Amino acid sequence: MIDLKNKVMIVTGGSRGIGASICLSAAAQGAKVLVNYVSNSESASSVVEDIEKNGGDAIAVKADVTDMSSVQEMVTLALESWSKIDILVNNAAIWNESPIEMMSDAVADETMSINFNGSLNCIRAVVPTMIKQGSGSIINISSTAAQRGEAFHSHYAASKGAINSLTKSLASELGPKGIRVNSVCPGWTYTDMTAEVFRGGSDLVIAETIPLRRIGKPEDCAAAVLFLASDDASYITGISLNVNGGSVLTG
Ligand code: NAP
Repeated sequence: MIDLKNKVMIVTGGSRGIGASICLSAAAQGAKVLVNYVSNSESASSVVEDIEKNGGDAIAVKADVTDMSSVQEMVTLALESWSKIDILVNNAAIWNESPIEMMSDAVADETMSINFNGSLNCIRAVVPTMIKQGSGSIINISSTAAQRGEAFHSHYAASKGAINSLTKSLASELGPKGIRVNSVCPGWTYTDMTAEVFRGGSDLVIAETIPLRRIGKPEDCAAAVLFLASDDASYITGISLNVNGGSVLTG
C-alpha cells in the first residue's frame, strides 16, 4: 500500500479530471493536498470538501500557472499551511485542435505557455524549498502525444515532448540534491478534455485499437503518480511511465 502520510503535495489543475483523481487518491493515502485551479472554483472546492469529509487536509488555491507571481503566491500558501513541499504534480494543461496551416500565434502561444512554461514556473517556484529540505519528488504529466506525435495537435505534442526533455534534464541536475523528477504519460482517458471527442461512441472505436481494449480512467494515472510520489519509488528518477493500455505499441 502506498504511504503518503504527512507528505505535502501540490497538484496543478487539481479541480477536474486526472488532477482531481490524483488529489483524492493522494489524500486517501495521507497526503496534505493543495488543489490548484484557474477558473473552476466550484470543482476545486468540491475536491477539497470530499477530502475533508474523509478526514483529510486540503486547500483550494486559484493560480494561473502561466503567471509566475501567482505561482509564487500559491507556493507561499502551501508553505504557510504545512511548512514544506514534498511533491509537485504538474498536471494543468490544455488540448486544442489546430491544423498547422490555420494555427494562430495566440493558439500556439497559449498551449506552450500553459503546458510547458506553466510546469517550468511551478518547478522554479518549489525547487528552492526542495533543495533546502534535501528532498522532493516532481511528477510532470506528459502524454502519448510526446512519444509518437499527434496530427492536428502538433503544438500540444511539442509541448509534451518538451516536458519529457525537461524531466530528463532536471532528473540529472536535481538528483544530487535529493530531488527526483519523473513523467507520467497518459493515453486516452475519460475526462472533460476528451468528452467532446468521445461523444457518439467513438471511445468504443478507439478502445478497439488499444491492446488492453479500453479507454483509461483518471484513477489509472493517479495510481502511477502516487507510486512515483512515494518512497517506494525512491530509486526512480528521469523516467516516463506510460499509462496508456499499450496504445503507443500499436500506433
Ligand atoms: P481536464 O479535465 O481538461 O482538466 C484540466 C485542468 O487543468 C483543470 O483542473 C483546469 O482548471 C486546469 N488548468 C487549465 N489551465 C490552467 C492554468 N492556466 N492554470 C492552472 N490550471 C489550469 O484535463 P485532463 O484530461 O484531466 O488532463 C490532465 C493532464 O493529463 C494534462 O496534462 C493532459 O495534457 C494530460 N493528458 C490527458 C489525456 C486525456 O485523454 N484526458 C491524455 C494524455 C495526457 P479549471 O478547472 O479551473 O479550469
